[in-house]
Amino acid sequence: QAKNTHRGTAVFDPAGPAPESPAQLALVGELRAGLGRDELRLYVQPKADARTGEVVGVEALVRWQHPRHGLIMPDEFIPIAERNGLINALTAEVLDLAVTAAAGWAAAGNPVSIAVNLSARSLLGTDLAGEVDALLAARQLPAGLLTLELTESSMMTDPRGVAALLAQLNGMGVRLSIDDFGTGYSSLSTLRRLPLDEIKIDRSFVMGLEGNADDETIVRSVVDLGLNLGLHVVAEGVENERIWRILRQMGCTLIQGYYLSRPIPVGDFPGWLSHYRETRGSAALHADAA
Ligand code: C2E
Ligand code: MG
Ligand code: MG
Ligand code: MG
Repeated sequence: QAKNTHRGTAVFDPAGPAPESPAQLALVGELRAGLGRDELRLYVQPKADARTGEVVGVEALVRWQHPRHGLIMPDEFIPIAERNGLINALTAEVLDLAVTAAAGWAAAGNPVSIAVNLSARSLLGTDLAGEVDALLAARQLPAGLLTLELTESSMMTDPRGVAALLAQLNGMGVRLSIDDFGTGYSSLSTLRRLPLDEIKIDRSFVMGLEGNADDETIVRSVVDLGLNLGLHVVAEGVENERIWRILRQMGCTLIQGYYLSRPIPVGDFPGWLSHYRETRGSAALHADAA
């Protein structure tokens, strides 16, 4: 590890937990260069109305097209970006790709909302609200078509700073969502205190709906809690129709998961959507009526 010190402090975020391995250190440099070279690839995964099956939004999920290693998944490079001071640049690029895409769909007559994931570290130490405001204006996307997904833990670092930021974003009309709900440490008062619009139930609970009685109790409770607080409740990780049916009966607002679609390249979404509307969309409505 001591070997790494000659590379200087610029590489390391002093708040980061541990120095990178040589392989990760190489990725840091390559990611820094790649951010300026359009190597990030935006994928989107549809979210549908749990009752009707109508697709009303997508979640933006980033991948990195590495020149030699191929497509790298976010779990492998987001933490590295977070630890090495690259997350704000990455977030800015993803936001731009996402807002530009959604503005294009809206201009073409298909207003579909887009959700972008935010790391805890992209919330503070940068004028996120100002950046988002400028971006929405530049691309002419109505703020209500942008959702920002935050995790419970990201609200714990600087609760007052985060609360102020969320109030600002909410005031602009941007929608706010808590991702992976149930896996973190947020207290119920957090839900009441912050101007949230949506809860996403973590897929580990949703996938347990088939056969795990505890998970069924948890999901039912979270759906009731969210709805009673006036929030939309999204279930992530819906992999089959049986689970969708259970969620629909529970009153869940939106579903997202492989059953609808895997994440697809953003450019493929309009074609996917028209095909869905012609085929599976009507099948879903039919199943609902049955
Ligand atoms: P997440 O926000 O909870 O996203 C959901 C993850 O679950 C995605 O993984 C998605 O592909 C996967 N998933 C969706 N439906 C299903 C399903 O039915 N079954 C199963 N088994 N998995 C499903 P992905 O794309 O690998 O993203 C992983 C995580 O990386 C995301 O979790 C999010 O926390 C983070 N991430 C992705 N894009 C960004 C980004 O632009 N910025 C930041 N800060 N984080 C991002
Ligand atoms: Mg998410
Ligand atoms: Mg999630
Ligand atoms: Mg999750």
